Amino acid sequence: MQGSGTQGAAALRPMLRFAPSPNGFLHVGHAYSALLNERLARQLGGGLLLRIEDIDATRCRPEFEDALLDDLAWLGVRFDGVPLRQSERFGVYGAYIGRLTSAGLTYRCFCSRSDIAAATRASGETRRDPDGASLYPGTCRCGEQGPAPDLAGRPFSLRLDMAKAVQQATAITGDAPLTMPSLDAALHAETIAVDPLAWGDVIVARKETPTSYHVSVTVDDALQGVTHVVRGRDLEAATAIHRLLQTLWGFPAPAYLHHDLIRDASGEKLAKSLGSKPLRQLRAEGVTPQELRASLGF
Ligand code: GLU
Repeated sequence: MQGSGTQGAAALRPMLRFAPSPNGFLHVGHAYSALLNERLARQLGGGLLLRIEDIDATRCRPEFEDALLDDLAWLGVRFDGVPLRQSERFGVYGAYIGRLTSAGLTYRCFCSRSDIAAATRASGETRRDPDGASLYPGTCRCGEQGPAPDLAGRPFSLRLDMAKAVQQATAITGDAPLTMPSLDAALHAETIAVDPLAWGDVIVARKETPTSYHVSVTVDDALQGVTHVVRGRDLEAATAIHRLLQTLWGFPAPAYLHHDLIRDASGEKLAKSLGSKPLRQLRAEGVTPQELRASLGF
């Protein structure tokens, strides 16, 4: 199923992105990530995009989007072009999910959270994914038969059959294990092995949203020509899933830089309290953008 998404890796203009979710106010940790993206884009002679990751209609609100645009303008981070809003792109994500389904890599899951908790207890499954959640026990993974008839009409999510997906991806890579091109802050590159199996059968389309974070972030990074993904360490383990999807869809691998918690100008970790302080609050306290940039080492 490789193919139409593939882009030539040669001579791509470096392209970075900052991709906040408007489900709350931006805090100092976000400011650090945006400023690091800005600095690296400049260092690499590339561009910087803003992407609004608002697929979760229950948590994202227009007032948070307005506030984040305003806070980023206050901070003085400049982006190329107009922001891309993920909630306007469900059709694009659906087409890529459809390719996974046509390749036999997804199945319908009718389980509720409590169904999963009960099945997990009953099966004695104790493994957890890298975020600490129980692995899906596979209740709805029913091979070729499709959903049981009495479930017709009930809402379902689509899950990736992870074992099959990894098998298909390694067939594409000629049995080479999946890896992530990783950069450190000085832009030294290394290749790190990644393990999507550790995540179990992840959801690719939710019951209430026709996509998922993993699908939309992977599709948009590729279609927007993102060459360097710079984001927090908390998303490093999820990159295994993104590398798997990139391989299945024939997308090139961007270089990944997962930064630590924010640091101050001397390289020490800033107190957590400051890291989670909303930029709105600092602004109200009279902090200037120059002061904030300087305190973060920019
Ligand atoms: N939207 C995600 C967040 O706000 C970031 C996703 C990413 O950078 O890949 O945490």
